[in-house]
Amino acid sequence: MLGMPTLPPPAPRGVGHLRGDESFPAAARHALADTQLRANLGHATRTIRAKRASVVAELPDWEELREAGRQLKVHTMAHLPDYLEQLEAAVTARGGVVHWARDADEANRIVVDLVKAKGVDEVVKVKSMATQEIALNEALEAAGVSAWETDLAELIVQLGHDRPSHILVPAIHRNRSEIRRIFLDEMGDVDPDLTDEPAVLAGAARLHLRRKFLSAEVAISGANYAIAETGTIGVVESEGNGRMCLTLPKTLITVMGIEKLVPRYTDLEVFLQLLPRSSTGERMNPYTSMWTGLTPDDGPQEFHLVLLDNGRTQVLADAEGRDALNCIRCSACLNVCPVYERAGGHAYGSVYPGPIGAILSPLLTGVEDNASLPFASSLCGACYDACPVKINIPEILVHLRARHTETYAEEHRAPSAEAVAMRTLSYVMRSPLRWTLALRSGRFGRLLGRRRGTIGEVPLPVVKQWTETRDLARPPQQTFRDWWADTHSGDPS
Ligand code: SF4
Repeated sequence: MLGMPTLPPPAPRGVGHLRGDESFPAAARHALADTQLRANLGHATRTIRAKRASVVAELPDWEELREAGRQLKVHTMAHLPDYLEQLEAAVTARGGVVHWARDADEANRIVVDLVKAKGVDEVVKVKSMATQEIALNEALEAAGVSAWETDLAELIVQLGHDRPSHILVPAIHRNRSEIRRIFLDEMGDVDPDLTDEPAVLAGAARLHLRRKFLSAEVAISGANYAIAETGTIGVVESEGNGRMCLTLPKTLITVMGIEKLVPRYTDLEVFLQLLPRSSTGERMNPYTSMWTGLTPDDGPQEFHLVLLDNGRTQVLADAEGRDALNCIRCSACLNVCPVYERAGGHAYGSVYPGPIGAILSPLLTGVEDNASLPFASSLCGACYDACPVKINIPEILVHLRARHTETYAEEHRAPSAEAVAMRTLSYVMRSPLRWTLALRSGRFGRLLGRRRGTIGEVPLPVVKQWTETRDLARPPQQTFRDWWADTHSGDPS
Protein backbone atom coordinates (compact mmCIF):
# COMPACT_ATOMS: atom_id res chain seq x y z
CA MET A 1 0.00 0.00 0.00
CA LEU A 2 1.34 3.43 -0.90
CA GLY A 3 2.89 5.29 2.00
CA MET A 4 3.27 2.18 4.15
CA PRO A 5 6.84 1.43 5.20
CA THR A 6 8.05 -1.86 3.77
CA LEU A 7 10.38 -4.29 5.45
CA PRO A 8 13.74 -4.89 3.84
CA PRO A 9 13.99 -8.34 2.29
CA PRO A 10 15.48 -11.39 4.01
CA ALA A 11 19.03 -12.51 3.26
CA PRO A 12 19.01 -13.21 -0.49
CA ARG A 13 19.22 -16.71 -1.95
CA GLY A 14 22.15 -17.83 -4.07
CA VAL A 15 24.84 -16.08 -2.04
CA GLY A 16 26.33 -16.77 1.37
CA HIS A 17 26.19 -19.65 3.81
CA LEU A 18 22.85 -19.43 5.59
CA ARG A 19 21.03 -22.24 3.79
CA GLY A 20 22.01 -25.90 3.61
CA ASP A 21 21.56 -28.28 0.68
CA GLU A 22 19.63 -30.77 2.84
CA SER A 23 17.08 -30.56 5.62
CA PHE A 24 18.40 -30.95 9.18
CA PRO A 25 17.11 -34.55 9.65
CA ALA A 26 18.72 -35.70 6.39
CA ALA A 27 22.05 -34.00 7.13
CA ALA A 28 22.04 -35.17 10.75
CA ARG A 29 21.65 -38.76 9.60
CA HIS A 30 25.09 -38.62 7.89
CA ALA A 31 26.64 -37.00 10.95
CA LEU A 32 25.18 -39.56 13.35
CA ALA A 33 26.76 -42.37 11.32
CA ASP A 34 30.23 -40.78 11.69
CA THR A 35 31.58 -42.21 14.95
CA GLN A 36 34.86 -40.24 14.73
CA LEU A 37 32.91 -36.98 14.46
CA ARG A 38 30.72 -37.87 17.43
CA ALA A 39 33.73 -38.82 19.55
CA ASN A 40 35.53 -35.53 18.68
CA LEU A 41 32.43 -33.47 19.41
CA GLY A 42 31.61 -35.25 22.65
CA HIS A 43 35.15 -34.80 23.97
CA ALA A 44 35.42 -31.14 22.95
CA THR A 45 32.01 -30.02 24.22
CA ARG A 46 32.45 -31.88 27.55
CA THR A 47 35.82 -30.15 28.09
CA ILE A 48 34.51 -26.64 27.29
CA ARG A 49 31.37 -27.20 29.40
CA ALA A 50 33.41 -28.14 32.46
CA LYS A 51 35.73 -25.12 32.07
CA ARG A 52 32.80 -22.75 31.66
CA ALA A 53 30.97 -24.15 34.67
CA SER A 54 34.00 -23.68 36.91
CA VAL A 55 34.74 -20.03 35.94
CA VAL A 56 31.07 -19.05 36.03
CA ALA A 57 30.78 -20.49 39.54
CA GLU A 58 33.53 -18.09 40.69
CA LEU A 59 31.33 -15.04 40.14
CA PRO A 60 28.71 -14.47 42.84
CA ASP A 61 26.98 -11.87 40.62
CA TRP A 62 26.82 -14.00 37.45
CA GLU A 63 23.03 -13.78 37.24
CA GLU A 64 23.13 -9.99 37.69
CA LEU A 65 25.74 -9.78 34.93
CA ARG A 66 23.55 -11.85 32.62
CA GLU A 67 20.61 -9.58 33.33
CA ALA A 68 22.75 -6.47 32.71
CA GLY A 69 23.91 -7.96 29.39
CA ARG A 70 20.33 -8.69 28.39
CA GLN A 71 19.10 -5.22 29.32
CA LEU A 72 21.93 -3.53 27.42
CA LYS A 73 21.17 -5.54 24.31
CA VAL A 74 17.42 -4.97 24.51
CA HIS A 75 18.00 -1.21 24.92
CA THR A 76 20.46 -1.11 22.00
CA MET A 77 18.07 -2.95 19.67
CA ALA A 78 15.23 -0.61 20.63
CA HIS A 79 17.36 2.38 19.54
CA LEU A 80 19.44 0.73 16.82
CA PRO A 81 18.96 3.35 14.05
CA ASP A 82 20.11 6.17 16.36
CA TYR A 83 23.13 4.28 17.63
CA LEU A 84 24.15 3.27 14.10
CA GLU A 85 24.12 6.89 12.99
CA GLN A 86 26.10 7.86 16.07
CA LEU A 87 28.64 5.16 15.24
CA GLU A 88 28.91 6.32 11.63
CA ALA A 89 29.57 9.89 12.73
CA ALA A 90 32.20 8.83 15.29
CA VAL A 91 34.07 6.53 12.86
CA THR A 92 34.02 9.18 10.13
CA ALA A 93 35.27 11.87 12.53
CA ARG A 94 38.29 9.67 13.30
CA GLY A 95 39.22 9.17 9.63
CA GLY A 96 37.37 5.92 8.88
CA VAL A 97 34.93 5.35 6.02
CA VAL A 98 31.56 3.73 6.70
CA HIS A 99 29.76 1.69 4.01
CA TRP A 100 26.18 0.43 4.34
CA ALA A 101 25.46 -2.97 2.81
CA ARG A 102 21.84 -4.03 2.39
CA ASP A 103 22.75 -7.68 1.80
CA ALA A 104 25.52 -10.19 1.13
CA ASP A 105 25.88 -9.23 -2.54
CA GLU A 106 26.30 -5.56 -1.74
CA ALA A 107 28.78 -6.23 1.09
CA ASN A 108 30.88 -8.54 -1.11
CA ARG A 109 30.89 -5.98 -3.92
CA ILE A 110 32.03 -3.21 -1.57
CA VAL A 111 34.90 -5.29 -0.14
CA VAL A 112 36.03 -6.67 -3.51
CA ASP A 113 36.10 -3.13 -4.99
CA LEU A 114 38.12 -1.83 -2.03
CA VAL A 115 40.64 -4.69 -2.31
CA LYS A 116 40.93 -4.40 -6.09
CA ALA A 117 41.51 -0.66 -5.74
CA LYS A 118 44.62 -1.48 -3.72
CA GLY A 119 45.95 -3.61 -6.57
CA VAL A 120 46.66 -6.67 -4.38
CA ASP A 121 45.88 -10.32 -5.01
CA GLU A 122 46.17 -11.52 -1.38
CA VAL A 123 44.54 -10.45 1.89
CA VAL A 124 44.82 -11.79 5.44
CA LYS A 125 41.70 -12.36 7.50
CA VAL A 126 40.90 -12.66 11.16
CA LYS A 127 38.05 -15.04 11.94
CA SER A 128 34.70 -13.45 11.22
CA MET A 129 31.24 -15.00 11.21
CA ALA A 130 29.84 -12.12 9.15
CA THR A 131 32.26 -12.70 6.26
CA GLN A 132 31.48 -16.42 6.36
CA GLU A 133 27.78 -15.61 6.34
CA ILE A 134 28.15 -13.63 3.09
CA ALA A 135 30.75 -16.01 1.53
CA LEU A 136 33.28 -13.22 1.15
CA ASN A 137 36.20 -15.60 0.54
CA GLU A 138 34.41 -17.06 -2.47
CA ALA A 139 33.61 -13.57 -3.81
CA LEU A 140 37.27 -12.54 -3.43
CA GLU A 141 38.45 -15.74 -5.09
CA ALA A 142 36.11 -15.09 -8.03
CA ALA A 143 37.78 -11.69 -8.34
CA GLY A 144 41.26 -13.26 -8.34
CA VAL A 145 42.10 -12.44 -4.71
CA SER A 146 43.29 -15.11 -2.24
CA ALA A 147 41.96 -14.63 1.30
CA TRP A 148 44.13 -16.28 3.97
CA GLU A 149 42.41 -17.24 7.21
CA THR A 150 44.81 -16.68 10.12
CA ASP A 151 42.90 -18.17 13.05
CA LEU A 152 44.36 -21.68 13.53
CA ALA A 153 41.02 -23.47 13.43
CA GLU A 154 39.86 -21.42 10.43
CA LEU A 155 43.14 -22.23 8.67
CA ILE A 156 42.51 -25.95 9.28
CA VAL A 157 39.02 -25.60 7.82
CA GLN A 158 40.29 -23.62 4.84
CA LEU A 159 43.19 -25.96 4.04
CA GLY A 160 40.91 -28.98 4.50
CA HIS A 161 38.40 -27.53 1.93
CA ASP A 162 35.92 -27.99 4.73
CA ARG A 163 33.17 -26.00 6.44
CA PRO A 164 33.24 -24.65 10.00
CA SER A 165 31.11 -26.65 12.43
CA HIS A 166 31.25 -24.53 15.58
CA ILE A 167 31.09 -20.77 16.15
CA LEU A 168 34.16 -20.60 18.33
CA VAL A 169 36.03 -23.78 17.46
CA PRO A 170 35.31 -24.13 13.72
CA ALA A 171 37.46 -27.28 13.38
CA ILE A 172 35.96 -28.99 16.45
CA HIS A 173 35.08 -31.97 14.23
CA ARG A 174 38.78 -32.63 13.43
CA ASN A 175 41.24 -34.44 15.68
CA ARG A 176 44.98 -33.85 15.67
CA SER A 177 45.92 -36.72 13.38
CA GLU A 178 43.47 -35.43 10.80
CA ILE A 179 44.96 -31.94 11.17
CA ARG A 180 48.48 -33.30 10.66
CA ARG A 181 47.32 -34.96 7.44
CA ILE A 182 45.72 -31.72 6.20
CA PHE A 183 48.89 -29.72 6.91
CA LEU A 184 51.11 -32.29 5.16
CA ASP A 185 48.83 -32.38 2.13
CA GLU A 186 48.05 -28.67 1.79
CA MET A 187 50.63 -26.44 3.45
CA GLY A 188 53.40 -26.83 0.92
CA ASP A 189 56.20 -25.39 3.08
CA VAL A 190 55.64 -27.77 6.02
CA ASP A 191 58.28 -30.11 7.55
CA PRO A 192 57.58 -33.63 6.16
CA ASP A 193 58.42 -35.10 9.60
CA LEU A 194 55.54 -33.15 11.21
CA THR A 195 54.07 -34.94 14.23
CA ASP A 196 50.56 -34.59 15.62
CA GLU A 197 51.72 -32.95 18.88
CA PRO A 198 49.50 -29.87 19.36
CA ALA A 199 52.53 -27.60 19.94
CA VAL A 200 54.22 -28.88 16.77
CA LEU A 201 51.06 -28.35 14.71
CA ALA A 202 50.64 -24.83 16.11
CA GLY A 203 54.32 -24.10 15.32
CA ALA A 204 53.86 -25.19 11.71
CA ALA A 205 50.81 -22.94 11.34
CA ARG A 206 52.69 -20.03 12.95
CA LEU A 207 55.58 -20.29 10.47
CA HIS A 208 53.18 -20.55 7.55
CA LEU A 209 51.11 -17.56 8.65
CA ARG A 210 54.00 -15.29 9.68
CA ARG A 211 55.02 -14.92 6.04
CA LYS A 212 51.48 -13.91 5.13
CA PHE A 213 51.23 -11.31 7.91
CA LEU A 214 54.49 -9.68 6.92
CA SER A 215 53.62 -9.36 3.25
CA ALA A 216 49.88 -8.52 3.37
CA GLU A 217 48.84 -5.00 2.36
CA VAL A 218 45.16 -5.46 3.24
CA ALA A 219 43.49 -7.16 6.19
CA ILE A 220 39.83 -8.08 6.61
CA SER A 221 38.23 -8.56 10.01
CA GLY A 222 34.91 -9.01 11.67
CA ALA A 223 34.00 -7.28 14.93
CA ASN A 224 32.82 -8.51 18.31
CA TYR A 225 31.40 -5.08 19.09
CA ALA A 226 31.38 -1.45 18.03
CA ILE A 227 30.93 1.41 20.49
CA ALA A 228 28.49 4.02 19.24
CA GLU A 229 29.73 6.90 21.41
CA THR A 230 33.40 6.66 20.37
CA GLY A 231 33.41 4.76 17.06
CA THR A 232 35.72 2.15 18.63
CA ILE A 233 35.67 -1.34 17.12
CA GLY A 234 36.77 -4.43 19.07
CA VAL A 235 37.92 -7.94 18.24
CA VAL A 236 38.53 -10.58 20.89
CA GLU A 237 40.58 -13.65 20.08
CA SER A 238 42.98 -16.12 21.66
CA GLU A 239 45.98 -16.51 19.38
CA GLY A 240 47.32 -13.04 18.59
CA ASN A 241 46.65 -13.54 14.89
CA GLY A 242 43.91 -10.93 15.13
CA ARG A 243 46.30 -8.40 16.65
CA MET A 244 48.74 -8.97 13.75
CA CYS A 245 45.97 -8.58 11.15
CA LEU A 246 44.63 -5.45 12.77
CA THR A 247 47.96 -3.68 13.13
CA LEU A 248 50.42 -4.75 10.36
CA PRO A 249 48.65 -4.23 6.99
CA LYS A 250 48.21 -0.67 5.67
CA THR A 251 44.50 -1.07 4.95
CA LEU A 252 41.92 -2.59 7.27
CA ILE A 253 38.41 -3.52 6.18
CA THR A 254 35.94 -4.59 8.89
CA VAL A 255 32.65 -6.29 8.04
CA MET A 256 30.18 -6.15 10.92
CA GLY A 257 26.53 -7.08 11.37
CA ILE A 258 24.51 -4.01 12.38
CA GLU A 259 23.50 -5.66 15.66
CA LYS A 260 27.02 -5.72 17.12
CA LEU A 261 26.63 -2.29 18.70
CA VAL A 262 26.96 -1.21 22.30
CA PRO A 263 26.08 2.36 23.26
CA ARG A 264 28.95 3.32 25.60
CA TYR A 265 32.54 2.39 26.32
CA THR A 266 31.64 1.42 29.87
CA ASP A 267 29.19 -1.22 28.58
CA LEU A 268 32.19 -3.36 27.71
CA GLU A 269 32.69 -3.98 31.42
CA VAL A 270 29.67 -6.29 31.23
CA PHE A 271 30.38 -8.01 27.92
CA LEU A 272 34.09 -8.56 28.51
CA GLN A 273 33.17 -10.51 31.64
CA LEU A 274 30.34 -12.48 30.05
CA LEU A 275 32.02 -13.39 26.76
CA PRO A 276 35.28 -15.17 27.71
CA ARG A 277 33.68 -17.12 30.55
CA SER A 278 30.84 -18.28 28.31
CA SER A 279 32.93 -19.05 25.25
CA THR A 280 36.34 -20.49 26.10
CA GLY A 281 35.80 -20.84 29.84
CA GLU A 282 38.50 -18.24 30.57
CA ARG A 283 38.37 -15.39 33.07
CA MET A 284 39.53 -12.90 30.50
CA ASN A 285 40.32 -12.96 26.85
CA PRO A 286 43.98 -13.41 25.84
CA TYR A 287 43.84 -10.70 23.11
CA THR A 288 41.33 -7.87 23.13
CA SER A 289 42.14 -5.44 20.30
CA MET A 290 40.34 -2.11 20.03
CA TRP A 291 40.82 0.69 17.55
CA THR A 292 39.18 4.02 16.97
CA GLY A 293 39.48 5.29 13.39
CA LEU A 294 43.06 6.04 12.30
CA THR A 295 46.19 6.96 14.21
CA PRO A 296 48.88 8.70 12.09
CA ASP A 297 51.97 6.50 11.56
CA ASP A 298 50.60 3.74 13.79
CA GLY A 299 48.67 0.74 12.48
CA PRO A 300 46.53 0.83 9.33
CA GLN A 301 46.36 4.16 7.56
CA GLU A 302 43.07 3.40 5.81
CA PHE A 303 40.05 1.98 7.61
CA HIS A 304 36.71 0.92 6.13
CA LEU A 305 33.74 -0.28 8.15
CA VAL A 306 31.09 -2.23 6.23
CA LEU A 307 27.79 -2.35 8.13
CA LEU A 308 25.87 -5.44 7.06
CA ASP A 309 22.09 -5.85 7.17
CA ASN A 310 21.43 -9.12 5.24
CA GLY A 311 18.04 -9.77 6.84
CA ARG A 312 18.75 -8.24 10.25
CA THR A 313 16.26 -5.37 9.91
CA GLN A 314 13.59 -7.94 9.16
CA VAL A 315 14.52 -9.83 12.33
CA LEU A 316 14.38 -6.58 14.30
CA ALA A 317 10.81 -6.08 13.10
CA ASP A 318 9.79 -9.48 14.49
CA ALA A 319 8.73 -8.76 18.07
CA GLU A 320 8.98 -12.42 19.10
CA GLY A 321 12.20 -13.24 17.24
CA ARG A 322 14.26 -10.08 17.60
CA ASP A 323 16.08 -11.22 20.76
CA ALA A 324 18.11 -13.49 18.46
CA LEU A 325 20.00 -10.32 17.47
CA ASN A 326 21.23 -9.98 21.07
CA CYS A 327 23.60 -12.92 20.54
CA ILE A 328 27.25 -12.22 21.33
CA ARG A 329 28.39 -15.44 19.54
CA CYS A 330 29.90 -17.03 22.63
CA SER A 331 28.78 -20.57 21.61
CA ALA A 332 27.77 -21.60 25.15
CA CYS A 333 24.41 -22.77 23.81
CA LEU A 334 26.13 -25.12 21.35
CA ASN A 335 28.25 -26.72 24.03
CA VAL A 336 25.27 -27.63 26.23
CA CYS A 337 22.91 -28.73 23.46
CA PRO A 338 22.27 -32.49 23.30
CA VAL A 339 21.21 -32.20 19.66
CA TYR A 340 24.35 -30.28 18.62
CA GLU A 341 26.59 -32.65 20.56
CA ARG A 342 25.30 -35.60 18.55
CA ALA A 343 24.59 -34.10 15.13
CA GLY A 344 27.49 -31.61 14.93
CA GLY A 345 27.52 -28.24 13.22
CA HIS A 346 27.39 -29.22 9.53
CA ALA A 347 23.91 -30.70 9.92
CA TYR A 348 22.51 -27.18 10.43
CA GLY A 349 23.56 -26.22 6.88
CA SER A 350 24.25 -22.64 7.95
CA VAL A 351 27.34 -20.87 9.19
CA TYR A 352 25.42 -20.48 12.47
CA PRO A 353 25.00 -23.95 14.00
CA GLY A 354 23.48 -25.16 17.25
CA PRO A 355 20.56 -23.60 19.11
CA ILE A 356 21.38 -20.03 18.05
CA GLY A 357 21.64 -21.21 14.44
CA ALA A 358 18.28 -22.95 14.72
CA ILE A 359 16.66 -19.56 15.33
CA LEU A 360 19.00 -17.03 13.68
CA SER A 361 19.29 -18.73 10.28
CA PRO A 362 15.52 -19.06 9.67
CA LEU A 363 14.97 -15.54 10.96
CA LEU A 364 17.56 -14.12 8.55
CA THR A 365 16.46 -16.14 5.51
CA GLY A 366 12.75 -16.40 6.19
CA VAL A 367 11.47 -19.51 7.95
CA GLU A 368 10.58 -21.46 4.82
CA ASP A 369 14.19 -21.46 3.57
CA ASN A 370 15.31 -23.17 6.78
CA ALA A 371 12.05 -24.82 7.80
CA SER A 372 13.56 -27.87 9.50
CA LEU A 373 15.87 -25.93 11.84
CA PRO A 374 13.30 -24.77 14.42
CA PHE A 375 12.50 -28.47 14.93
CA ALA A 376 16.16 -29.40 15.55
CA SER A 377 15.70 -29.15 19.29
CA SER A 378 14.26 -31.12 22.17
CA LEU A 379 13.25 -27.80 23.82
CA CYS A 380 15.08 -28.92 26.96
CA GLY A 381 16.02 -25.31 27.75
CA ALA A 382 19.73 -25.90 28.46
CA CYS A 383 20.60 -23.22 25.88
CA TYR A 384 18.48 -20.62 27.67
CA ASP A 385 20.13 -21.44 31.01
CA ALA A 386 23.62 -21.13 29.51
CA CYS A 387 23.10 -17.99 27.41
CA PRO A 388 25.00 -15.03 28.92
CA VAL A 389 22.45 -12.55 27.54
CA LYS A 390 19.44 -14.71 28.44
CA ILE A 391 18.04 -15.25 24.95
CA ASN A 392 14.98 -17.43 25.38
CA ILE A 393 15.85 -19.74 22.51
CA PRO A 394 13.16 -22.38 23.22
CA GLU A 395 10.45 -19.70 23.10
CA ILE A 396 11.70 -18.41 19.74
CA LEU A 397 11.91 -21.98 18.43
CA VAL A 398 8.26 -22.51 19.29
CA HIS A 399 7.37 -19.17 17.65
CA LEU A 400 9.16 -20.23 14.44
CA ARG A 401 7.54 -23.68 14.49
CA ALA A 402 4.13 -22.03 14.71
CA ARG A 403 4.99 -19.69 11.87
CA HIS A 404 6.11 -22.58 9.68
CA THR A 405 2.98 -24.57 10.48
CA GLU A 406 0.76 -21.61 9.57
CA THR A 407 2.66 -20.89 6.36
CA TYR A 408 2.49 -24.55 5.38
CA ALA A 409 -1.26 -24.64 5.90
CA GLU A 410 -1.72 -21.45 3.85
CA GLU A 411 0.50 -22.58 0.99
CA HIS A 412 -0.78 -26.13 0.75
CA ARG A 413 -4.39 -25.33 1.60
CA ALA A 414 -4.13 -28.32 3.90
CA PRO A 415 -3.01 -28.70 7.51
CA SER A 416 0.48 -30.01 8.22
CA ALA A 417 1.10 -33.45 9.74
CA GLU A 418 1.63 -31.81 13.16
CA ALA A 419 -1.66 -29.95 12.91
CA VAL A 420 -3.51 -33.16 12.00
CA ALA A 421 -1.84 -35.01 14.87
CA MET A 422 -2.69 -32.27 17.38
CA ARG A 423 -6.32 -32.05 16.22
CA THR A 424 -6.69 -35.82 16.46
CA LEU A 425 -5.17 -35.81 19.93
CA SER A 426 -7.45 -33.00 21.02
CA TYR A 427 -10.51 -34.93 19.72
CA VAL A 428 -9.47 -38.11 21.54
CA MET A 429 -8.66 -36.36 24.82
CA ARG A 430 -11.99 -34.56 24.99
CA SER A 431 -13.83 -37.81 25.71
CA PRO A 432 -12.96 -40.17 28.60
CA LEU A 433 -14.27 -43.12 26.58
CA ARG A 434 -12.21 -42.23 23.49
CA TRP A 435 -9.13 -41.68 25.66
CA THR A 436 -9.55 -45.06 27.40
CA LEU A 437 -9.95 -46.83 24.07
CA ALA A 438 -6.90 -45.04 22.68
CA LEU A 439 -4.81 -46.14 25.67
CA ARG A 440 -5.95 -49.71 25.23
CA SER A 441 -5.09 -49.63 21.52
CA GLY A 442 -1.58 -48.63 22.59
CA ARG A 443 -1.08 -52.30 23.40
CA PHE A 444 -0.62 -52.94 19.68
CA GLY A 445 2.59 -50.96 20.09
CA ARG A 446 3.91 -53.84 22.17
CA LEU A 447 3.83 -55.99 19.06
CA LEU A 448 5.73 -53.38 17.03
CA GLY A 449 8.42 -52.99 19.67
CA ARG A 450 8.74 -56.69 20.35
CA ARG A 451 12.13 -57.23 18.74
CA ARG A 452 14.09 -54.04 19.56
CA GLY A 453 12.38 -53.00 22.76
CA THR A 454 11.53 -49.67 21.04
CA ILE A 455 9.19 -48.71 18.21
CA GLY A 456 11.04 -47.43 15.13
CA GLU A 457 9.61 -46.04 11.88
CA VAL A 458 5.91 -46.88 11.38
CA PRO A 459 4.94 -46.57 7.69
CA LEU A 460 1.54 -44.96 8.23
CA PRO A 461 0.51 -41.44 7.17
CA VAL A 462 1.33 -38.75 9.80
CA VAL A 463 2.78 -41.39 12.17
CA LYS A 464 5.63 -42.02 9.71
CA GLN A 465 6.84 -38.40 9.88
CA TRP A 466 6.85 -38.55 13.66
CA THR A 467 8.54 -41.94 14.02
CA GLU A 468 11.18 -41.66 11.29
CA THR A 469 13.25 -39.40 13.51
CA ARG A 470 12.26 -40.80 16.91
CA ASP A 471 12.30 -44.14 18.69
CA LEU A 472 9.27 -44.61 20.92
CA ALA A 473 9.43 -46.70 24.08
CA ARG A 474 7.51 -49.98 23.92
CA PRO A 475 4.26 -49.48 25.85
CA PRO A 476 4.12 -51.31 29.20
CA GLN A 477 2.07 -54.46 29.57
CA GLN A 478 -0.44 -52.72 31.77
CA THR A 479 -1.63 -49.10 31.55
CA PHE A 480 -1.70 -46.96 34.69
CA ARG A 481 -5.52 -47.04 34.64
CA ASP A 482 -5.59 -50.83 34.45
CA TRP A 483 -3.08 -51.06 37.28
CA TRP A 484 -5.19 -48.66 39.37
CA ALA A 485 -8.34 -50.63 38.71
CA ASP A 486 -6.57 -53.88 39.67
CA THR A 487 -4.97 -52.60 42.83
CA HIS A 488 -7.68 -50.21 44.11
CA SER A 489 -10.85 -52.11 43.35
CA GLY A 490 -13.59 -50.63 45.47
CA ASP A 491 -11.44 -47.58 46.39
CA PRO A 492 -12.75 -44.59 44.38
CA SER A 493 -9.89 -42.28 45.51
S1 SF4 B 1 22.54 -17.49 21.83
FE1 SF4 B 1 23.46 -16.94 23.80
S2 SF4 B 1 24.64 -18.78 24.36
FE2 SF4 B 1 24.19 -18.97 22.16
S3 SF4 B 1 25.97 -18.09 21.12
FE3 SF4 B 1 24.46 -16.44 21.35
S4 SF4 B 1 24.99 -15.41 23.27
FE4 SF4 B 1 26.05 -17.38 23.28
